[in-house]
Amino acid sequence: MDADIMQKIRQRQALALVPRTDKPAKHQPEMLYIGCIDARLDPVADIGIEQGKALIHRTIGAVVAGLDEQGKPRHLSEAASVEFAVNVMKVKHIVVSAHTNCGGLGACLRGDNKPETSHLTEYLEPLLPVREAVLEHPGEEEAHAHAMEEGSVRQSIDNLRTYPFVAEAEKRGELQLHGWVIDTATKLISEMNPQTLQFKPMAAARGTGAGPGR
Ligand SMILES: [Zn+2]
Repeated sequence: MDADIMQKIRQRQALALVPRTDKPAKHQPEMLYIGCIDARLDPVADIGIEQGKALIHRTIGAVVAGLDEQGKPRHLSEAASVEFAVNVMKVKHIVVSAHTNCGGLGACLRGDNKPETSHLTEYLEPLLPVREAVLEHPGEEEAHAHAMEEGSVRQSIDNLRTYPFVAEAEKRGELQLHGWVIDTATKLISEMNPQTLQFKPMAAARGTGAGPGR
């Protein structure tokens, strides 16, 4: 029988299999990356972020809920991550990255409301206006899913700006907000134009940095 996941992790602890360095990488994050918990995604490997350069907050559907009308965080874990990234680590970028074939966004779109996923239903409430807007347009399931991915990112970027320190840092030009949808299969990124709010494939940069684009 194949070893189960815990067994494989224990086997890898055999020192020769663990990539070891004498000290940890420098913790100098320039980015807060907010992405889904989906098990097929690995932000560091998929996108190619150097160790120590990005804080990573993973949460179902990459939902950013922001502050409520009373100025209280709707999702405390998110609020703490955003606050730490912006006010303490002074990151220059926040990326909100939804992805294709997302179970969380799918559940929101279907309007799932089951006793065994009641927390998830409540958690997805910030996306209900997006769901409504998407379903107003007749279309195929795939088109709706796509519109949900992009719409949820737009909503999350808006919700990020409910944190006054985010809005202020952005206004001062010290912080940029980025909206992405990553293809779960190909890992190619579709990126939101901050002016038009439309998504298009990320423009590849050539000439700097490593990788196949060089
Ligand atoms: Zn997902």
